[in-house]
Amino acid sequence: MEGFTQAAIHLDLGNEKNVFTPYCFRFVPLIKNKNMHQERIEAIKREIAKADAGNPEELEAYRINYISKKSVVGELFAAMRDIPNEQKRAYGQLVNEVKQLAEEKFQELIEKVNSSASKSKSTDLDLTLPPSNIHVGGVHPLTATRQRIIEIFERIGFNLSEGPEIEDDWHNFTALNFPENHPAREMQDTFFLEKNPDIALRTHTSSVQVRVMENQKPPIRTLSPGRVFRNEAISARAHCIFHQVEGLYVDENVGFADLKNTLYHFAKEMFGKETKVRFRPSFFPFTEPSAEIDISCQLCGGKGCNVCKGTGWVEIGGSGMVDPNVLENCGIDSKRYTGFAFGMGIERIAMLKYQIKDLRLFTENDVRFLKQFRSMV
Ligand SMILES: [Zn+2]
Repeated sequence: MEGFTQAAIHLDLGNEKNVFTPYCFRFVPLIKNKNMHQERIEAIKREIAKADAGNPEELEAYRINYISKKSVVGELFAAMRDIPNEQKRAYGQLVNEVKQLAEEKFQELIEKVNSSASKSKSTDLDLTLPPSNIHVGGVHPLTATRQRIIEIFERIGFNLSEGPEIEDDWHNFTALNFPENHPAREMQDTFFLEKNPDIALRTHTSSVQVRVMENQKPPIRTLSPGRVFRNEAISARAHCIFHQVEGLYVDENVGFADLKNTLYHFAKEMFGKETKVRFRPSFFPFTEPSAEIDISCQLCGGKGCNVCKGTGWVEIGGSGMVDPNVLENCGIDSKRYTGFAFGMGIERIAMLKYQIKDLRLFTENDVRFLKQFRSMV
């Protein structure tokens, strides 16, 4: 048996006529293909005859199935290349018939869908109904407040500067006169990403001021708004993520009077002409002398209420003359130049301006809260 098989194979391979005559192999598949094509074409014809569409979506589905290039009819055309030449003509005729059938049906369905659409339009449309509301979005109150602050300072010559939210120890602490183990460092609970060398989420935007002073020569007048991070429990008055805006003015002969006048101007522009400003002595490592900035309470006009805890004043930020050490750390000659700096919480300003009682509302994304600010631009 084994010998016989081998001999047969040998015979086949040796018989050139058998091996290389193409029709010997092609003939059977051709007949089979022809029948298969016919059956397929008949099936598609039946499908087209039964097809229906009651709305534009179904009409589009029909178009994709039977009219588009990638439709079943398209595939029939694409199959033309596999049909032997002598059968191409007959096959082509059949396929063209299908195509025509599909297109006629398509026109029929278009008319059907159009007429049903116009019917429903004429019955459903009530011109006396009031128009439906157009929902207009708005800017977030913090964005609006930040923008307003920038506008006020831009008009008096401050430019805008930004810096990274992930800072090294030098820009966030050391250059700003926070020596190692200085108690002031403990005033700010910091999110450290790496220790030795320390990399942290910045605890204030003062780090941007350091970067500006390192890279620019006085006169410097810049405003740096941005997001800051402190490891604090979230409550109505505190959050671990909030926004600050800091201002810096460094030039020859800049004095405390310039600081006061700049902040008077800001308070009146932001909160109204009647607003009073008061400075309270304070301490920050990077300014000397330092002062807290209070404005007269917007709610009671200075008479005393819950918001101002009966004092008539509310704090909006801190300020002071830039410590000469900080200027020197940033490569600025402290004998020739002086400067002032101030910082405010954007949330705090927004809460005072719009009388918002809970800081958490800013980040809860409650549309009932947010849509109250829709009219602001
Ligand atoms: Zn008050």
